[in-house]
Amino acid sequence: MSYLRIGNLKSQRRMYRVNQQQLIEKSSQYMWLPFTQMKDYDEHPLVIESGEGVYLRDIYGNQYLDGYSSLWLNVHGHRNEEINQAIKDQLDKIAHSTLLGATNVPSIMLAEKLVELSPESLARVFYSDSGATSVEIAIKMAYQYWQNKGKPEKQKFITLQNAYHGDTVGAISVGKVDIFHRVYKSLMFESLVAPFPDVVHHPDLEDEEEIRDRALEELEGILKEHHHEIAGMTVESLIQGAGGMNIMPKGYFKGVEKLCRKYEVLLIVDEVATGFGRTGKMFAIEHEQVQPDIMTVAKGITGGYLPIAATLTTEEIYEAFYDDYTSLKTFFHGHSYTGNQLGCAAALANLEIYERENLIEKVQEKVRIIESLLAPLKDHPHVSSVRQLGMICGIELVQDKASKKPFLWEDRVGYRTTIKMRELGMLTRPIGDTIVFMPPLATTEEELEKMVRIMEEAIEITTKEAIGV
Ligand code: PLP
Repeated sequence: MSYLRIGNLKSQRRMYRVNQQQLIEKSSQYMWLPFTQMKDYDEHPLVIESGEGVYLRDIYGNQYLDGYSSLWLNVHGHRNEEINQAIKDQLDKIAHSTLLGATNVPSIMLAEKLVELSPESLARVFYSDSGATSVEIAIKMAYQYWQNKGKPEKQKFITLQNAYHGDTVGAISVGKVDIFHRVYKSLMFESLVAPFPDVVHHPDLEDEEEIRDRALEELEGILKEHHHEIAGMTVESLIQGAGGMNIMPKGYFKGVEKLCRKYEVLLIVDEVATGFGRTGKMFAIEHEQVQPDIMTVAKGITGGYLPIAATLTTEEIYEAFYDDYTSLKTFFHGHSYTGNQLGCAAALANLEIYERENLIEKVQEKVRIIESLLAPLKDHPHVSSVRQLGMICGIELVQDKASKKPFLWEDRVGYRTTIKMRELGMLTRPIGDTIVFMPPLATTEEELEKMVRIMEEAIEITTKEAIGV
């Protein structure tokens, strides 16, 4: 029986003497996975052992193309030498010290870099460790800002239908994906919900401009009536990710910004999924030159290496908290691992590669390649729409193309398609029956071709099975 080499030899002898089958069994016996029905996992277990470039390798040596950037994170591929080295170098200095009342070298340098890269309005960086916590912080910051400014009645938030901002209780309270959020309803605080201008699934309108203008009118109606009690509005930047990969029509985001300014409501932009080049700009807000009051970033910030997130804000908001301690205007929030040195060093190395390689420029070419590779899928009899914003893509599967009649959700056609893709050598996760395609920014043309071919084959096989052909 062969044993796996895990860790160094000493630890291998001590506790990690384990073969593949035992690992599978132990994963089922001891673990509980996020956003996973464990019964599904037990039917289709997968234990990743290593990665290289855009490939992941499991404990049996099977290779998989990383078609979802390991959940929308990875940028330059796995085991990037420069990021590896930056972490090792930092490790020789220190792994972690607290940011409560003190700073550290890489967190300072990263804060400066983030301010430099982000829109002009943003001047301060508050660290955390996941997208959800960066949103949680944004909400608390906005809420307290108004108290500190003497307007404590501004306490509520506006969100958009189908929004997803993470899974902490605050983040789900400004989230509106019913299938995830309704279970926790009584735990949540209530937000006002404005319609999302969904140009693909609108029940009665087809014209993009009309859909946009109607959504802005409804938002203005809410603001008119409630602005005196609203602290902020949370918006995913230009595309709703986990809500189904739906893209805002042109001009909507700018319209939201104008309305937030008009009604004195803080604009909180969530760039957790879209930041760091995913949409073809460093941040998706740049597509419409939106200037947020607060912006959240995570995922791609470390190139997909370590859990660093940040909430960026304006100098004006920062100043509302700056006073003698006894004024009790301090921002009462912080996590143990906030500003972790290893993560910040990885993020700095990651961002250096963007600059040196002119990565955002290079992404433009990849975006065009993906567009032409995905074009034939639009003609597939069970693909109702192919949506793409930069390197973020969603391919929606339906039972009947003409009427857009969905497959029965219980048939889980999206899920089964991704399991078929796994068999064919590529990993991703669906959102309902929408297949997410979000490869690392460094994926080559040849790798993109392979990925799309696998996706096409899996869609063909699974949809045929689903309709019983
Ligand atoms: N915000 C958006 C727009 C996201 O897409 C996500 C995760 O997918 C989050 C927040 C939550 O990020 P995390 O999973 O790092 O908590």
